[in-house]
Amino acid sequence: MNKRFDNQVRKLADVAVKVGVNVQPGQRLLIRGAHLEAAPLVRAITEAAYTAGALYVDVHWEDGELDKIRHRHAPRESFEYYPQWKADAYNHSAQTQDAILAITGDDPDNLVGCDPELINLERKVKESMIQDFRAVQMKNNLNWSIVSWPVTKWAEKLFPNMHADESRQQLWDAIFHTSRLHHDDPVAHWREHADNLKQRAAYMNEKQYRYLEYTGPGTDLRIGLPPGHIWCAAESETPSGIRFVANIPTEEIFTVPHKDETEGVVACSKPLNYQGTVIEDFSLTFERGKVVAVQAAKGQDVLEHLLATDDGARMLGEVALVPHDSPIAQSDVLFYNTLFDENAASHLALGSAYPFCLAGGTDMSDEDFARAGGNKSLAHVDFMIGSDRLAIDGILPDGTRESVMRDGVWSFDI
Ligand code: ZN
Ligand code: ZN
Repeated sequence: MNKRFDNQVRKLADVAVKVGVNVQPGQRLLIRGAHLEAAPLVRAITEAAYTAGALYVDVHWEDGELDKIRHRHAPRESFEYYPQWKADAYNHSAQTQDAILAITGDDPDNLVGCDPELINLERKVKESMIQDFRAVQMKNNLNWSIVSWPVTKWAEKLFPNMHADESRQQLWDAIFHTSRLHHDDPVAHWREHADNLKQRAAYMNEKQYRYLEYTGPGTDLRIGLPPGHIWCAAESETPSGIRFVANIPTEEIFTVPHKDETEGVVACSKPLNYQGTVIEDFSLTFERGKVVAVQAAKGQDVLEHLLATDDGARMLGEVALVPHDSPIAQSDVLFYNTLFDENAASHLALGSAYPFCLAGGTDMSDEDFARAGGNKSLAHVDFMIGSDRLAIDGILPDGTRESVMRDGVWSFDI
């Protein structure tokens, strides 16, 4: 590895630790999902975290190859099992409010050809075992973030017909650029970028639109927004006052939709990488908030299993707006990785909603949150619907219609 690359890795580690999770002195840091190839980044992050005063840095390594071996050779019962100690580790981290940093990046086709029912079962079992952790994370009661690493098989999917070194370099350049790390002082640049997004969110919060209406190729959709919905962006804050940026990169502003008030049809604008498989060219039809029909050119069975996770998996839990002129959209790279693709395009999520996107939401019981329109599910899966042909209108409570986005970009100035 050359010196320039080392410096770049250090920049990502720095932004991950100082802007992303914002590890506090005396806090433990749990790094999860780290691919074995991500060791250089994990080490740089560990160094940055201890330098920032972290008490202890713990790493949960993951290896897609092992997942594949399990899917090929393990008995069915294996997928009903998740190690108690691993669940305990997550739930304990939530309890003691550790900083949590996930590193994404793996072969998007890792589990292609494996049984979609078992893929979903595996995820469902894991999610129900770590529910306590997810509940704390969904409420932003701890500081968490996600960054990524150019794992070889991922790079080869994006940049085929090249030497592995070259495709890895291409993907690294794309990650580096879209994560806004190419500035002299990336930490300062990130503060400015976060402020910008926060002003967009503030404009939308002032409006308190009753509905959003989407029109575009294959899309004619109306989404109800509950009273008191809060548009969030980039930076969040834990109840103890730790500010963090949950996604590096992030270009979205997002809020909670009313789970029972989505009507119409929406077409995806990018393939969705879901648990090592790819779902392509799909559309969803909604009636009174629920998906009543799906159609996918590829991965229809995977999509159907996802929707069958539980009641909430058929309803929306997130509405997010991303302008088509963001650096990720402009890079024109299809990443097959939700962290990047969701930040390239306006998107929606099936499944659970973030309680902090609703006034008073983090103090509500599950029942009150549901009554206010907030969705709950073991699933939370973002899918992309934005493009340069998407138009979005906001409908005010008195019925007035205003333009929010045209041709995929903001219609309003801040
Ligand atoms: Zn999102
Ligand atoms: Zn999401």
